[in-house]
Amino acid sequence: MDLLKERILKDGTVKAGNVLKVDMFLNHQIDVKLLDEIGCEFKRLFGDKQITKILTIEASGIAVACAAAMHFDDVPVVFAKKAQSINLDGESYSTKIESFTHKKVYDVIVSKKYIKPDDKILIIDDFLANGCALLGLIDLVKSAGASVEGIGIVIEKGFQSGGKTIREMGLNLKSLAIIDSMDDTTGKIVFRE
Ligand code: 5GP
Repeated sequence: MDLLKERILKDGTVKAGNVLKVDMFLNHQIDVKLLDEIGCEFKRLFGDKQITKILTIEASGIAVACAAAMHFDDVPVVFAKKAQSINLDGESYSTKIESFTHKKVYDVIVSKKYIKPDDKILIIDDFLANGCALLGLIDLVKSAGASVEGIGIVIEKGFQSGGKTIREMGLNLKSLAIIDSMDDTTGKIVFRE
């Protein structure tokens, strides 16, 4: 998606530790018009699937998931919550996710009320790095007996392992921008064609 790539080149900054900061338009300040274009692109990519729910993880996935949902017809967004401690009352599905940016393992939950076995799920997130967040979300969907119809990512860091792992699982993963390399000393970002 050219608009997104141009914006990453203009406003993204490469930090040490393979972190791309996009606080200017995605992760802190949000460019809602750009998000709307992103949502429109996800609809183009996954509109042929009979999606019944969009699933993401708090916090930064929520805005992207909502932007996508605006382009689908009557499709709610469900966001998995990071819990301090899991309440094992049988009301929620839970999994563990290691945060790439904070290097912390979170328990992540979603209420059984919001994912049902007949749901066809589109998973959406802002970044794909090593794939922990996505593997956790896929695990939640599987626990509910629902199906993953597609996975939409705004920025995939293609030099990290997540994309390969998820594609090898046979899942329909589409990323709007894939970064093949980035350098925190020069700031250079190279996209996959
Ligand atoms: P993964 O679980 O695939 O290793 O990492 C994905 C999650 O970590 C995303 O939900 C995103 O919030 C965060 N993340 C991973 N890499 C980056 C990055 O380079 N920049 C930002 N802003 N977030 C990232």
